[in-house]
Amino acid sequence: MRFIVVFFFLISLALSANLDIRTWKSGFTFLNFLEANNLPLKTYYNLDKEDQKATEEILAGIEYEILLDEKKNLLQALIPINESIQLHIYQDAKKDYHLKVTPILLDKKREAFTFTLRTSPYNDIMHYTKNRFLAQEFVWAYKNSLNFKTSLRKNDRIVIIYDQLYRNGRHFGYPDIQVAMVNVYGKPRYIYRNTDGRYYDAKGKETEGFKLAKPIKNGRITSRYSKRRWHPVLKRYRVHQGVDFGARSGTPILAAAKGRVSFAGQTRGYGNIIKILHRDGYQTLYAHMKSFKGGMKRGKRVKKGSIIGYVGSTGLSTGPHLHFGLYHNGRPRNPAGVIRITTNVLRGKKRKAFKILQSNYNQEVALHIKANTKPNLQLKSENVCYLGANNPVNNISREK
Ligand SMILES: [Zn+2]
Repeated sequence: MRFIVVFFFLISLALSANLDIRTWKSGFTFLNFLEANNLPLKTYYNLDKEDQKATEEILAGIEYEILLDEKKNLLQALIPINESIQLHIYQDAKKDYHLKVTPILLDKKREAFTFTLRTSPYNDIMHYTKNRFLAQEFVWAYKNSLNFKTSLRKNDRIVIIYDQLYRNGRHFGYPDIQVAMVNVYGKPRYIYRNTDGRYYDAKGKETEGFKLAKPIKNGRITSRYSKRRWHPVLKRYRVHQGVDFGARSGTPILAAAKGRVSFAGQTRGYGNIIKILHRDGYQTLYAHMKSFKGGMKRGKRVKKGSIIGYVGSTGLSTGPHLHFGLYHNGRPRNPAGVIRITTNVLRGKKRKAFKILQSNYNQEVALHIKANTKPNLQLKSENVCYLGANNPVNNISREK
């Protein structure tokens, strides 16, 4: 593995340092964070453009850790940007602060359970697991193929098999449901996550209905989406939660789907931006715009393909291009898989591969029903934290 992240049990040095777990509030900026913790603002201004933009991607509601000394001075902070990368702020021996983008140390566990319906799938999953993200994902997975209200009855059996991430011993991010089964009137209704990361029904038809048009006519993608990419020349991690379309300044930008403008204004990193809210909790972001089309403000309704503004290079940008982002319930998604006209129906080789995946999952579901697998309750925090920068051990000894 390329990344080796060392972490320590804080308990062993808890004599002089305190770990605090906080939640990133909506509207809170990275500069707010520096001010609130008496950190020098140059910690931000000394960053390069990419990292400055990354600080604008911190999700509201995400948990982060800070380590304080006995005088409440910040020693270190770990702030996740997405499910695989985080900002690591630390103090060196000269008490100067540094910031580094580092991978998140995660455990991924395959989990499964079965239950019989008591009230609703959402309430029951919450009752058994206290995992809101799992409950939301389950409802979302079935949204377009099964109406829970009219189809489900008490005592219907449900099975869920999913991958859960753990960060520092606690649930982290949205689980990836691999397969789920709901028994409706004695007939099993399955949903499968295919290798393309999207949900399909038993017939191999994609069940996610949301599709996007290209935001630029004949636009060419110049930079792809990545949650975490190691740059071998710069020797650091980069995050790019969207796709870039190269285009000349002034090229019209089109709404990728029907929706309502939720924000039109200026940001530091992304320059002039428009955000559009679409159905089913989807949101698109258009950044570095030169200008907006007249009338573009919060609340304005837009049609798919209508002009919303023009390509520019505002904010932290190296040249005219459109940065296009897609978010689902606030969580970044790769827009590339969603930009198309038709719903996927698997054929040929892809269908064969899906049939094998389906048969394996069906067997697993049957095993869990037979075993009556009970839900796994959330693990308790193990109170661990990443420490140090390049050489964590040296850093700690210096701090002592
Ligand atoms: Zn970009």
